[in-house]
Amino acid sequence: MTKLPDAKLFIDGQLRDATGGKTYDVIGPWTGEPVCKAADATAEDVEAAIVAARRAFDETDWSTNVEKRVALVKKYRELFEKNRARLGDLAVHEAGAARGAVGRAHVDMALDGWDDYLRVFPEVKWEKDYGTREAFGMQNKRIAVHEPVGVVGAITPWNVPLYVNIGKVVAALLAGCTVILKPAPNTPGMGAIFGELAAEAGFPAGVVNVVFGEDPALAGEMLVTDPRVDLISFTGSTGVGKRIMEQGAKTLKRVFLELGGKSCRIVLEDDPNFQMDVAMGMLVFHAGQGCAVQSRLLVPKSRYEEAKAILKGAYANFGDNWGDVENPAHIMGPVISKRQMERVLGYIELGKQEGATLLHGGNARPDKGGGYFIEPTVFVDVDNKMRIAQEEIFGPVLVVIPFEDDEDAIRIANESDYGLSGGVNSGSQERAMNIAKRVRTGSFSINNGMCIAGDIPFGGYKASGIGREWGVEGIEEFLETKLIAYTVAA
Ligand code: NAD
Repeated sequence: MTKLPDAKLFIDGQLRDATGGKTYDVIGPWTGEPVCKAADATAEDVEAAIVAARRAFDETDWSTNVEKRVALVKKYRELFEKNRARLGDLAVHEAGAARGAVGRAHVDMALDGWDDYLRVFPEVKWEKDYGTREAFGMQNKRIAVHEPVGVVGAITPWNVPLYVNIGKVVAALLAGCTVILKPAPNTPGMGAIFGELAAEAGFPAGVVNVVFGEDPALAGEMLVTDPRVDLISFTGSTGVGKRIMEQGAKTLKRVFLELGGKSCRIVLEDDPNFQMDVAMGMLVFHAGQGCAVQSRLLVPKSRYEEAKAILKGAYANFGDNWGDVENPAHIMGPVISKRQMERVLGYIELGKQEGATLLHGGNARPDKGGGYFIEPTVFVDVDNKMRIAQEEIFGPVLVVIPFEDDEDAIRIANESDYGLSGGVNSGSQERAMNIAKRVRTGSFSINNGMCIAGDIPFGGYKASGIGREWGVEGIEEFLETKLIAYTVAA
């Protein structure tokens, strides 16, 4: 099994070990064995990163010199390109991506997203003219200027770490902010490479900082509660997101949250292909560990038996073509950790207890290796009130729910705390559009339309989050608005 480079912190322009030299083992999801050692940042390290980022924002021209920062962000991008193979290895051995998934969200889509940010950057509005207005007998000219918000704490998860790290770090840098990236304990290497390549690109000290540690909360909580950090951009679970919002309130911090989901795929009875395989594809890709996967499949009661038979065939066809780290065609590997495996298996048990019928899968697969393998799993006869239909499982588990008609499908889709994404398949664009407009989610796909890309905004309604990442909106999230008025001759 590939050994990854040890992960070092990057603070104030220096690649560093943790103060005191403490490290922890990063466990590979394929084997359950260590793949590298990572520095275990102390409170002192996080403090040093905050001081450096604050100083770089307040005392250098980073926030005002647009040309310089665009040039550096482009150079940084080239260095990531040169390291494409290493990024693939990190995705595979740290995050548990299967080789066939690397060419999608794990590396290729992530780097494409970086290019998209650079492409849309000229659309950022730095000024807005509000015209002239009379007040107290004087004419006032009003303009708004948009300025970088300051020091950004970027807290990211392990599932698609490169994609999420780019989503935050590149946008914040282009906006003129300084950044402290805090990747998840399972994927420090995908954070450390941002430090290493920032050093190579020649960013001014303190503009980019990377801290991580074995404790999932220590560094993040320091960033969230520190008044010198102006904005937290967080991607992760809804539970931690709520805590961040609560803790951020003490310093009235700007908080943007990209959280969990329990999205629907609705297949209408008039869909010419009556597509079941798209839902299956999402749930096997990266073992279902995606925030926007459509993990609730809604099928018409009138064709429920047919849908079950198609799904059974699709899963049988997918068969055992997953879980081999050497196979470049595989898109599904293990789940991230032992803890996550136990959690997902717990939900499978719960589904049985709740009265759902297991159509396929349901077992751990230790025969695939020492890591954390769970079979592609489908439950049918699921009621939307069951916990397996309401809670984010974050594993390869699809639940299939019957509906009566379009109104019922919309009701079921919206009967969720979450509101991240979703999709519909139909032979009628009008019916599909009606559904798309009424499901309360941040993105929605009609007939497999791709609603996630680096040049369009992404984010959630309801418990799926606050704010938008990617696209010009994703950069503008890191800007403040200052209104300036001056008197002019009448
Ligand atoms: P998590 O919430 O456990 O952790 C996310 C990050 O927060 C990690 O870096 C972790 O170390 C840090 N953290 C943990 N406790 C903290 C605290 N008290 N204060 C500050 N930071 C803290 O999430 P995860 O298990 O790493 O990732 C899976 C979750 O992420 C899923 O719920 C998934 O839906 C979500 N996700 C959402 C999106 C999106 O764009 N909406 C994208 C990817 C993943």
